[in-house]
Amino acid sequence: MSRRSAARAKASPYDALVEDGLVSADELQDCLRRAAAQRRSPEQLLIAEHQVPVARIGAALARHFDVPYEPFQRGRVRSEALQGLLRREFVVEHGWMPLEESPDGLVVVCTDPEQVRAARVVPQVFARTSRFAWRVTTATEFGQMLAQLYGGGEGGAIGDLLTDLSVPLDEDPDNDALLESAAADNEVVKFVNKLVVDAWQQRASDIHIEPLPGKGKTGIRFRVDGTLMPWLEVPAHFRQALVTRLKIMCDLDISERRRPQDGKIRFRRFGPLDIELRVATVPTAGGVEDVVIRLLAAGEPLPLERLNLSPHNLPRLLATVSKPHGLFYVCGPTGSGKTTTLHSILRQINTPETKIWTAEDPVEITHKGLRQVQINRKAGIDFAMLMRAFLRADPDVIMVGESRDEETVSMSVEASLTGHLVFSTLHTNSAPESIVRLLDMGMDPFNFADALLGVLAQRLAKRLCECKEAYAPEADEVRAFVTEYSDALRQTPAWRADRAGASKALYEGWLREHGRQGRLFFHRPRGCERCRDTGYRGRIGLHELLVADDAVRRLIQERARVSEIFETGVRHGMRTLKMDGMEKILLGLTDLSQVRAVCMR
Ligand SMILES: [Zn+2]
Repeated sequence: MSRRSAARAKASPYDALVEDGLVSADELQDCLRRAAAQRRSPEQLLIAEHQVPVARIGAALARHFDVPYEPFQRGRVRSEALQGLLRREFVVEHGWMPLEESPDGLVVVCTDPEQVRAARVVPQVFARTSRFAWRVTTATEFGQMLAQLYGGGEGGAIGDLLTDLSVPLDEDPDNDALLESAAADNEVVKFVNKLVVDAWQQRASDIHIEPLPGKGKTGIRFRVDGTLMPWLEVPAHFRQALVTRLKIMCDLDISERRRPQDGKIRFRRFGPLDIELRVATVPTAGGVEDVVIRLLAAGEPLPLERLNLSPHNLPRLLATVSKPHGLFYVCGPTGSGKTTTLHSILRQINTPETKIWTAEDPVEITHKGLRQVQINRKAGIDFAMLMRAFLRADPDVIMVGESRDEETVSMSVEASLTGHLVFSTLHTNSAPESIVRLLDMGMDPFNFADALLGVLAQRLAKRLCECKEAYAPEADEVRAFVTEYSDALRQTPAWRADRAGASKALYEGWLREHGRQGRLFFHRPRGCERCRDTGYRGRIGLHELLVADDAVRRLIQERARVSEIFETGVRHGMRTLKMDGMEKILLGLTDLSQVRAVCMR
């Protein structure tokens, strides 16, 4: 008993850092001693003097206290339970805060779970709550959470706004006049503006507003770099005013709550940003309405050099799109950056001698010299109709935002055979698959083969944040990497003749190009303030360029299968999305988990 208590007296919450080899036992003792003398947190010394990552400290605390670690995530701190209940001074003094209701109970985060539990203050404050789910966090991150809730940090005044919103609005769901006046309430107007500005600052592409019926809270999430993350929850009594305010901003019928509606907001009229918002309302179960808002930036085209095309693909692409006539497609799922790429290509060929017509939905990127037309389905202006109009309007180059129907595609083929350059996008997965899909639409194989210049398949993979950590992979990991990369090369003559030799040549080529001191380096995500501790920030394009050379043209005429086009493409220099992604791993831009995630077929 006495031996055990002696050991416990010596134990510190940071011991796991020694076990993990991040600091030595002596270094830790030294930090603890000096921190106690200076009345500051040992964390500061560990971070400043020994470069221990905050997340590793959090993990050490979790092991010591045997409760899960709660890292600081901007989207997580949105607890309305705090409002009007706990003052900042109280939270600072007691060192804990409630985060959210969860199936395991009320989540309470603190820096010292033993002390907070022993003090028994939490069950007194939340007397009606029977279960608590404890989380530990670092002192650094607890400070960030405080700053976000109460202002003072860069998180700003979400806390203040929610306090103001907590004033119940007189709400009668069937009284439109009352609703309209509630929606015009100054706090509601301010909240919606803050919502849009925050989403914009966090680089969100979409805002999702998801109300629950009855007393349930309304969740708000942002989509950033393709992934949804929670932003805030707002009280039930506020949802009608919020939804009504958005409907008023885009001139929708506020009394219509049973049918989906859609509209646009020029945000410049209401707030400090010159962006367009596309708003869609969808009535959901329980008589509430969801709202999804897409943020559209009026942008300029990026130079092709900034699209992260590999040194292998960039010259091939330039050569392909510099032909005087023909048909070129960019393919990939929604949100894979197809339009951005098409505009970069158009920017490249946009000269005073060239007439370029575009049909787009929506027109998001604009450039001087292009004549751009917005699709308006309600008014009957669709892609096929505009294509017909362009052909009568003396074009050199035509860009059609999407090719979904047979009419648009056959007009594109015709236009390219009569001397025009036509660009469009397809919702297909791979370059070879696109060809077969278009033939299946009923294209004449001979005309189509003559018209086609090439197909570029594209994906966006998450880019590693600057905080990434380089490491030299073990031989096994390198071997697996080579095998995965060469999956598509199996059928090529070089690999069939001498697989071991070809793998070796591949590896040695990488070493020459990317190696340091005779080794390859990979990177793993770490996490910092800038990337909200996710380890990733922004995205990069992965590309698969199939050039329609004579061999591919012959296969089109023969209506070959996808696998045959694929194999021929690879033999003639096409690198698959996966291969392109893996080369970007060697460049330290992303990692294997992200490449695999977007290359799943
Ligand atoms: Zn980072």
